[in-house]
Amino acid sequence: MGLADNGAVIEMKTELRTDLTIEDICAGFEFDEAENKGLFGWDGKLTIQPEYQRNYIYADAKMEAAVVESIFSGYPIGLLYFNKIAEDKYEVLDGQQRITSLGRYILGKFAVKAFKPKYFHSLEDAEREKFLKTRLTIYICEGEPEEIKAWFRTINIAGLPLNAQEISNAIYSGSFVTAAKAEFSNSQNSNLQVWQDYIKGNVQRQEILQTALSWVAKSSERDDIDKYMSRHRCDKNIDELKNYFDGVIDWIEKTFSETRDEMRGLEWGRLYETYHENKYDTAALDAEVKKLYADEAVTDKRGIFEYVLGGCKDAKLLHIRFFEESTKKTVHARQTEAAKKIGKSNCPLCAIGSDRNSTKIYKYNEMDADHVTAWSKGGETDIKNCQMLCKTHNRAKGNF
Ligand SMILES: [Zn+2]
Repeated sequence: MGLADNGAVIEMKTELRTDLTIEDICAGFEFDEAENKGLFGWDGKLTIQPEYQRNYIYADAKMEAAVVESIFSGYPIGLLYFNKIAEDKYEVLDGQQRITSLGRYILGKFAVKAFKPKYFHSLEDAEREKFLKTRLTIYICEGEPEEIKAWFRTINIAGLPLNAQEISNAIYSGSFVTAAKAEFSNSQNSNLQVWQDYIKGNVQRQEILQTALSWVAKSSERDDIDKYMSRHRCDKNIDELKNYFDGVIDWIEKTFSETRDEMRGLEWGRLYETYHENKYDTAALDAEVKKLYADEAVTDKRGIFEYVLGGCKDAKLLHIRFFEESTKKTVHARQTEAAKKIGKSNCPLCAIGSDRNSTKIYKYNEMDADHVTAWSKGGETDIKNCQMLCKTHNRAKGNF
């Protein structure tokens, strides 16, 4: 029993099995050499690596051996989680790597070196028997996707926890996820290099897929991505997902001729939705980007792309460098001294007004610095272009 996202109490069937042994679970173990992943176990009843799982990542032989050594040393290898999908049909929710390590050991794929360098087949009979008869601790759950999701988030999974996309792949497994993974979670995909110019993340941890889904779902909220996955769960193809994704990538490539490090991980899905119908002169856009890259006042280069797409209006995106504290203090002192001499406010905008603030002398901390000539009109961030305004006037001016 647990709490769903909406707070409702959920009742999902979970069963703790402690009777199953390594021999049971590794019976009929099949391993895909080419893809380096475990496929089936438990006499075919168990899908070890459902399409949604992360790739087998114990490429590190040490990790793989550690699983086997734990068994020989009598240490627990942690809980395994299976999802019951039909009568006598299970999928590994968590523990796929551990099971694959055990299966590969039995198949003689590696030896355990740390103590007695032994392959499975060279074990003494008693050792082999002890290994095979070791009982595993397995939680089997059965329930609706929402329930499993809520439950999944609360269990403390041994080893590397699944991330949000991996969990969703598990929950919405089916033909759509299979096809989507083949495209977006495939480290052999030759397009990957281009994609990674714009997208951050680990392909094996499903992070490229997550981005692709967030684009077509037009939201990076987990719930919206999950709704999309749920709607398309039984689709035989991923045409919509792929076409949309390719459309975004094409658009970026056509719009910006140069790729730059700061482009990686931008919210391209949102930018595409907002700006792709505008017509751009790409040569002019490139020139503008170059100029902004060279401008030291632009402290956030990542903001440049949306800034130019939006017609160079929203300078907030660029986090324009601000005046130094010493500059502001100097200017404040200078303005205050001059203002006192003529009996006017030290805020130049208050001084030209007619209300009682026109003679008010503001303390340093009651004022903010302002670019006399806006940065966007070529004004520099140096003392010659700095004036102090009272906070009210500075806010009202509010431009760069
Ligand atoms: Zn003022």
